[in-house]
Amino acid sequence: MLIVQKYGGTSVANTECIMRVAKRITAAFDAGNKLVVVVSAQGDTTDILTNKANKINPNASKRELDMLLTTGEQQSVALMAMAIHSLGYPATSLTAAQVGIHATSTYGNARIKNIETSRMLSEIERNNIVLVAGFQGVNRYGDVTTLGRGASDTTAVAIAAVLGADLCEIYTDVEGVYTADPRLVKNSVKINQISYEEMLELSSLGVQVLHNRAVEMAKRYRIKLVVRSSMTNAEGTLIKGDVPEMEKLYVSGIAVDDKIARISLIGLNDKPGIAYQIFSFLAKAKISVDIILQSIGRNDTKDISFTVHKDDLTEAVAVLTSQKDSIGFDEISYDDQSAKLSIVGAGMVTNFGVASMMFEALYDCGVNVNMISTSEVKISVLINKNHVEKAMTAVHDKFVNNQIDFYKGGRGL
Ligand code: ADP
Ligand code: ASP
Ligand code: MG
Repeated sequence: MLIVQKYGGTSVANTECIMRVAKRITAAFDAGNKLVVVVSAQGDTTDILTNKANKINPNASKRELDMLLTTGEQQSVALMAMAIHSLGYPATSLTAAQVGIHATSTYGNARIKNIETSRMLSEIERNNIVLVAGFQGVNRYGDVTTLGRGASDTTAVAIAAVLGADLCEIYTDVEGVYTADPRLVKNSVKINQISYEEMLELSSLGVQVLHNRAVEMAKRYRIKLVVRSSMTNAEGTLIKGDVPEMEKLYVSGIAVDDKIARISLIGLNDKPGIAYQIFSFLAKAKISVDIILQSIGRNDTKDISFTVHKDDLTEAVAVLTSQKDSIGFDEISYDDQSAKLSIVGAGMVTNFGVASMMFEALYDCGVNVNMISTSEVKISVLINKNHVEKAMTAVHDKFVNNQIDFYKGGRGL
């Protein structure tokens, strides 16, 4: 089999971890597989490098930041190659430039355009284990770019797609995808199988165990994707097309995103075109807006609240404040103390009462809901960041623990 494996930061955090992973890789090689292995930077290296840069220049150029951040993955692949050599096996480490991972020019958040296969295939041909630095690409100027935080998963799936791999395994520090973050919700349950659609929804709503663009690509190219632990031999979670038990479950998972900021414009004129004006100013500044809530007009005025990514808060407030006269509002208020809690499930659309169950769980644990947004497969609420843990536990208890037989009989446990 041709297998693409990916090991995340905690899986290669120190020498002991690297040696453990090297043994896992060589065992798969001994089993007769051809291997391309994508590796992330060790532990918190990406954060440490970012902080280092901020200390020297808080407005560091994005090009130079990418120059710096990509060194984390370059170190990891080289160390992994050395570890594999020490076990007596052949391996070659490659950067994105050496492979030919071509990406767009957006430093810090580039997209993969295409990947050359010739170098990887010739290494495989020579019976080498191929090690590829994750999270990086090269743009048309030949400069290195990074693909967004957590994007080594996307590197792995993209490589699996171009090579037509039989399997793509994402090795991490938990045993698979759980019904909720196992670090926050103690009795969360491992999901054995989940559909691409549901996983994409979960990843996009903040479940970081898989990068959302990786899931998107796996879905598009029908890649057999597995999330599993680099520390145990537990089976992991299979992400695939149709999951037969799907209809049984109202809710397949609970996601939380705390990288959120809320902005409210108070006292807007209640006339046509106001929402258009506000959101086109933000769109011009390339700021994405998520949940939007508009109050009913009263005395010819209304209020609009919405959420943006935490990193966009300062710019969004500056853009709107600079347009105060042309938009026409009394006041702008904002905070970054909110979190978005979401329940996701393909069965939701046919099971009425799911929303009320969620609100009941939140009411029972005394958590106030500030905004609500729904679609056919998810319900999201905006709550105070400090209440995340108890809200998640309450919602999880309501849906998962009360339906535990479904999980045991179907996809979980
Ligand atoms: P890696 O460094 O291997 O890429 P990440 O930190 O990106 O690992 O993702 C793994 C983490 O995702 C876990 O440690 C876990 O805390 C978190 N996580 C959040 N939600 C979930 C979930 N539903 N299932 C599994 N892990 C989750
Ligand atoms: N090292 C990068 C990050 O921390 C990429 C990754 O881990 O996937 O975001
Ligand atoms: Mg990750």
